[in-house]
Amino acid sequence: MKTRNSFIVINILCAIALGACSTATPTVSPAESTSPAPQTATDNSGLSSNSQDTSTDTSSLACNDGNKSAVLTPEETEGPYFTANSPERDVLFEDGMNGIKLVLTGHVYNENCQPVANALLDFWQADANGVYDNNGYTLRGHQYTDANGYYELTTVIPGIYPGRTEHIHVKVQAPNGKLITSQLFFPGVSLNDSDGIFNENLLIVLQETSDGMQGQFNFVIPTQ
Ligand code: FE
Repeated sequence: MKTRNSFIVINILCAIALGACSTATPTVSPAESTSPAPQTATDNSGLSSNSQDTSTDTSSLACNDGNKSAVLTPEETEGPYFTANSPERDVLFEDGMNGIKLVLTGHVYNENCQPVANALLDFWQADANGVYDNNGYTLRGHQYTDANGYYELTTVIPGIYPGRTEHIHVKVQAPNGKLITSQLFFPGVSLNDSDGIFNENLLIVLQETSDGMQGQFNFVIPTQ
């Protein structure tokens, strides 16, 4: 277990490393290659109204306005914390789990904006304290889109960890299609600007609800 002193040292090292992270290439993230360390409590409540802008503007959602085509969802590095064989489930949130509940919904489309049924979505993420469960499957799960290409994930807003802004990892694959690995990001997070992996085309459309947050993101994936 980490002592408080080692925790402080880690935080200092991370502060030094942040500058380097801003120029990290998308293929290998220095931050992703280090063991996640818990953040201070104030870092990860994360989504106070001050730090988390929300937007109901859905114009950025792929294929949202009757478009007949869309560009593929950008791919991102997998990072070191993927675990194969996650359980099939669309609710990762657990009773008593720390953090702000997030219900993420959307569709999976092909490049012609046709819904992709039975597309695989495999999500994994850090908890609200920025820590991954690398021994089990907490906050890990896969599911398949319905006949309309629709998916729904119930989880928590992920915390930050050294060098990384808030993000959710995901693998998406059409039946018999290429497996796409990417990451989703959150609007209004100040660390987005210093995260070398951040891509604004992977921003979730986010709004507050009476029970946490509601997010939307549409994927566009190759079907061959
Ligand atoms: Fe990560």
